Amino acid sequence: MSKMTIRDVDLTGKRVMIRVDFNVPQDENGQIREDTRIRAALPTIRLALAQGAKVILVSHLGRPKGTPDAKYSLKPVQERLAMLLGQPVRLAPDCVGEATAAMVRAMRPGDVLMLENVRFHAAEEKNLPEFARQLAELADVAVNDAFGTAHRAHASNAGIGQFVQPMVAGLLLADEIAYFDKSVRNPERPFAAILGGSKVSSKIGVIEALTAKVDALLIGGGMAFTFLAAMGKPVGSSLVEKGMLDTARQAIAAAQQRGVQLLLPLDVVAALQMDPASPIKTLFLDESIPEHWMGFDIGPVTVQRYIQALKGMKTILWNGPMGVFEMEPFAQGTLQLAQAVADSHALSVVGGGDTDAAVRQAGVAERISFISTGGGAFLELLEKGSLPGIEALTAR
Ligand code: ADP
Ligand code: MG
Repeated sequence: MSKMTIRDVDLTGKRVMIRVDFNVPQDENGQIREDTRIRAALPTIRLALAQGAKVILVSHLGRPKGTPDAKYSLKPVQERLAMLLGQPVRLAPDCVGEATAAMVRAMRPGDVLMLENVRFHAAEEKNLPEFARQLAELADVAVNDAFGTAHRAHASNAGIGQFVQPMVAGLLLADEIAYFDKSVRNPERPFAAILGGSKVSSKIGVIEALTAKVDALLIGGGMAFTFLAAMGKPVGSSLVEKGMLDTARQAIAAAQQRGVQLLLPLDVVAALQMDPASPIKTLFLDESIPEHWMGFDIGPVTVQRYIQALKGMKTILWNGPMGVFEMEPFAQGTLQLAQAVADSHALSVVGGGDTDAAVRQAGVAERISFISTGGGAFLELLEKGSLPGIEALTAR
């Protein structure tokens, strides 16, 4: 890896400011519904504590519109973190300012201080240097461990690097970078990407970037129908983005030109409505999908074809479900492919919020080499090859 990680620095006695992603889902009363993100940050926090660092945590929570709002206070997170860490965690009244600075000055090695929501300041998302400098004044070492926001150049995850060095990746971010390197940047070949999800338009950049890298591209989900329609296949009333037909044709041509094996569905599970109770049919694309019918999953022949194509792959990257997996009648394609990816001996990397959920639903998450924690950040990293929150890290 070309960037420094937390493993490369001595943190003993240092003020270590860790940008974490504690943007947890909450209910109406502010209760934390799910604390995966807090748990995910524990290894990095514990590593710093074990070295006798003074750990200062920075995060955003929700969308407070650049001004303090009690509804978005990190208080509930502070309490949960203290419980999970098994040690006191103090909460500063703000993330900058004299009262916060005084609390930092009072810290001893092994202490944990959580700063209040960094998005209580509009300067955070505007990445204003003066604000980044104020944050940096509280730290000797900056750590970015918030992959979920790494595609945004904000003060706490990017701008701060101008004012405090080194700025290093935490364990979570280091893993994200390492698996991106091992898959997209420098894959063991053959390398296959599976792409699905609802729309071509939201992922065209990813499709184009991956076409330049992979040996095989397997397409499913709603986006497959824009490709099939672009090839002149009658797809009934399946989800087709009319404005994307030319783009899809260009993508097909690019794949052909590069010798990429491009696989599209041969059959689909179709229904008259996106409703688990509606009658379903398995239809072959050669025989065309009748009017009003819509494809909501890849069919069994396609599933077998895709599983076959994955055999012998050394690297597999997957984003986007193969169908409307949230509904049982349309979940088979996604679940069976999840099994195949898990069974494969390839290095497997999965990303995207819904794909993550699908892999868990299939019960195979433990057997995937790496599941990315970022939705938007993961897609943008695939598309652009780097992210502001990674660029800001100190070079090794
Ligand atoms: P991710 O979050 O993993 O990046 P997306 O958000 O792009 O994935 O796509 C997931 C959504 O795509 C799911 O909600 C799923 O129901 C929908 N989807 C998949 N296949 C189809 C289809 N054939 N028609 C309509 N929607 C689909
Ligand atoms: Mg999604």
